[in-house]
Amino acid sequence: MENYEMTIVGAGLAGITAARRLNKQGRNQFLLVDKSKSVGGRLATRRVANGKADHGAQFFTVRTEELDEEVQDWLKKGWITNWFGDDHPRYTAVDGMNKLAKQLSEEFTPSLESKVTSIVEKEGAYEVTDDKGQVWKSEKVLLTMPIPQIVQLLKDSELSVQPSALKQLKSISFEPTYVGIFHFKTPTSLPEIGQVDQGLPDGVERIVDHQKKGISDEVIVSVYMTGDWSRRYFGEDYVMSLMQEKLASYLNWDDLESEQLKRWRYAQAKNVLRSSYLDLKGDATLVAAGDAFLRENDEAGRTRIESAYLSGKDAAAYLSW
Ligand SMILES: Cc1cc2nc3c(=O)[nH]c(=O)nc-3n(C[C@H](O)[C@H](O)[C@H](O)COP(=O)(O)OP(=O)(O)OC[C@H]3O[C@@H](n4cnc5c(N)ncnc54)[C@H](O)[C@@H]3O)c2cc1C
Repeated sequence: MENYEMTIVGAGLAGITAARRLNKQGRNQFLLVDKSKSVGGRLATRRVANGKADHGAQFFTVRTEELDEEVQDWLKKGWITNWFGDDHPRYTAVDGMNKLAKQLSEEFTPSLESKVTSIVEKEGAYEVTDDKGQVWKSEKVLLTMPIPQIVQLLKDSELSVQPSALKQLKSISFEPTYVGIFHFKTPTSLPEIGQVDQGLPDGVERIVDHQKKGISDEVIVSVYMTGDWSRRYFGEDYVMSLMQEKLASYLNWDDLESEQLKRWRYAQAKNVLRSSYLDLKGDATLVAAGDAFLRENDEAGRTRIESAYLSGKDAAAYLSW
């Protein structure tokens, strides 16, 4: 049976950042696993015909020196660009947000299409099992999935954790988000910057034209619905036609080539925890992290790319002490 110093469950930005930190320290006895075909989690980009569209995070802002230092490096490498905003730059990845996740994880090999289904304590370590029946040993485990999925995995594993930690995890809920991805035959009349987030009809949060954003050769538009709206219509089969009705005056539906719908069950946390990670057993062997874990002094107070980054970084520092 393979034996690792640490298993990081989830290769979104929090998991990748934790892995990068361990890697930099030369502690490469870790396994980064993700259930998906690609790393990135909510840093998601989809190919549509000969174009592409981001359909998770669109951009990120920076408040801390730590992330800013990285960002200066990513800018130099040509991985990201300042999309808009002079005083408060909105950075975005030049080739789609998922590409940035891939670039950040190119120094190690994540184990993909491996969904962790159980974690059991055995002989002073953890035995981790995935949905393919693979089993490995790990001295420590870092969980970085959206909190409701962490809670579910703990329950399925019948793993006993500190009641106060479990209570904190259970106090966090996530909102869903519907994203419509539309391919048009002709350019849109959206502003040159390629995004609108003001004055939109009720229920619509953001519209992004990826040709104008600069990442797509074809006109691919993502329409983000609000959490409230998405929850209300979650699972209904007519959401695409509702979106089209709402945006009749923004997009030329006669020129529509194709459409797809992305349902994020866990898009953004509605409330947050005020510590950048949580030690679930109190012995620094099983830790939860991710974007809903905010540093105590976090000024933005909301879940976002920067909080995922800082949480992954802090959790790795704690676990590799
Ligand atoms: C629609 C949408 C729009 C957004 N817009 C913005 C924005 O504009 N700006 C911004 O800053 N933030 C935005 N965000 C939030 C941002 O994307 C997240 O805060 C951040 O990417 C979260 O990173 P994470 O690593 O914490 O979690 P995730 O990216 O969710 O990573 C968790 C990973 O765990 C994996 N996983 C889950 N369960 C298992 C399992 N059992 N076994 C193995 N792997 C598992 C998942 O596949 C996933 O890859 C947006 C999010 C969404 C969904």
